[in-house]
Amino acid sequence: MPNPDRENSEQRSNPMKMPSHIAFKEDTQSVLCKRLLASSPEEGCALLLGNEKQIKTSIQNFLFEISLIWPCSNIWKNELEFLPKQIEVNTNLKQSLSRKNRFTIDPREQLLAQKWARTKSLSILGSAHSHPSSGAIPSKVDLDLNFTPGLIVIVSGSGELRAWWINNANKIKSTEIMVLPNTKQIA
Ligand SMILES: [Zn+2]
Repeated sequence: MPNPDRENSEQRSNPMKMPSHIAFKEDTQSVLCKRLLASSPEEGCALLLGNEKQIKTSIQNFLFEISLIWPCSNIWKNELEFLPKQIEVNTNLKQSLSRKNRFTIDPREQLLAQKWARTKSLSILGSAHSHPSSGAIPSKVDLDLNFTPGLIVIVSGSGELRAWWINNANKIKSTEIMVLPNTKQIA
């Protein structure tokens, strides 16, 4: 039987749909890259705050405009409680994970960011993390351990930034989202 409480809380926590584009306001893109890569060789992580904006030329399309970077500490510990319950932990997976290839944002930091964002009429639009020693594409761990569909921005060690919508309930687990260059922001 469906659990109405669970459904409601899922709806509340993730009402967002995939945007057609994302845009970084002012210098937020370079701030993000610098902050994330400062944690190398470990993965850095941050929350992305901003607003959904309708694209004037399209009724259906909207973009996520990121106006503030909320840096977070990577609290990943190689302990079972940090793995979502849905994952059957095998020793190989457990041993292969460290802060160099995995991040966890402290849920308390997330709550704090959420509270603060509300007072500024902003929302948490997604998260960002770095891949100090690999490319800016979602890793198997990123795909397998994400249970809530949403935006993930990844910055590679060389500073390349790419945005992805992760939805691992689908056959296609990740879809790339176009990042608008600063000069061409529509909203
Ligand atoms: Zn990753």
